[in-house]
Amino acid sequence: MPPPDDPFARRHPKATDVLGLSPARDLPDPAARMDELTRNLLDTLDFMTEEFGPSPIRNLAITPIPGGFGQGFPGLVYLSTLAYVNPGQLPPPLRERSEQTFYSELLETHEVAHQWWGNLVVPASYHDDWLIESLANYSALLLLERKKGVKALDAVLDDYRTHLLAKTDTGRTLESAGPIVWGYRLESSLAPDGWRTVTYEKGTWIIHMLRRRLGDEKFLALLREVSSHHHSISTDEFRDLARQYAPKSPDSDLKIFFDNWVYGTGVPSVKLSYVWRGAKLSGALVQRDVDDAFTAYVPVEVQTGSKSDVYWLPTGSDPVAFSIPLKSAPTKVSLLAANCLMITSK
Ligand SMILES: [Zn+2]
Repeated sequence: MPPPDDPFARRHPKATDVLGLSPARDLPDPAARMDELTRNLLDTLDFMTEEFGPSPIRNLAITPIPGGFGQGFPGLVYLSTLAYVNPGQLPPPLRERSEQTFYSELLETHEVAHQWWGNLVVPASYHDDWLIESLANYSALLLLERKKGVKALDAVLDDYRTHLLAKTDTGRTLESAGPIVWGYRLESSLAPDGWRTVTYEKGTWIIHMLRRRLGDEKFLALLREVSSHHHSISTDEFRDLARQYAPKSPDSDLKIFFDNWVYGTGVPSVKLSYVWRGAKLSGALVQRDVDDAFTAYVPVEVQTGSKSDVYWLPTGSDPVAFSIPLKSAPTKVSLLAANCLMITSK
């Protein structure tokens, strides 16, 4: 607590008084955000300790660093000075919702998550860096979802999808820069932002799709196993662990999932057609905008009254037929774009 009569304040008049500015309107006030930053830090530590077990390091220093980034070392987090500013007081170019969410909701949590993902568990090689960054980022999104609901999570993922599909000067999407396991080799003069966007944003999507495939309980059990039993982890080892948590279904060994999303590139544009007849929902899925070899299981939601089921069904360049027994007529059948990195086409 500062003393009631602060001699420091008397010797150094405030810049706002000298310049005749209104601090509320014109100048950011980082001190006003300290309580919130501290609260977020405590929430993050509680959440991650509960989900992934206690961090081996019992002290954590958070300190500002000029610039737009953060870094999470063992016991020390550098946090962008912009994270110390209330979102409404960020410089005007950074007042978009996605920038505000990044600086005020995700950056601190992401860096703290590196106490687990990156410091406790390290990547086996640069091919596996994506896994660590994506797990840290997804941990931040899990906490965002817990605080603000699934819509907040989906909005961030929607932004990531837009970035991944943005075209570079060569007319190709950023996502097509290369498979995520290429690591920093994704950055090139042809796709200067390829490494960042694919590693962080596609990686986060991969973890999200995996969560939706496994279900929350199994997904969190998988993360707990990784954080408690593995000091270093490769992408293959991660797949081997993940498949042990996958439900019985086609591609339950997640080979197709990893081959296409992790070791390959492509964001399909998927079209669904269906008809309900004779207690059966029949239809087909067809994909565009990806190689013929690309194949993915995509989520189709079937609602009947208040009941909703999600089926993971395969796509292909030629229509892939499906048939689901369904006693009563569905009220809605749709591709669940919030759960899969795809575009739904009519
Ligand atoms: Zn990171």
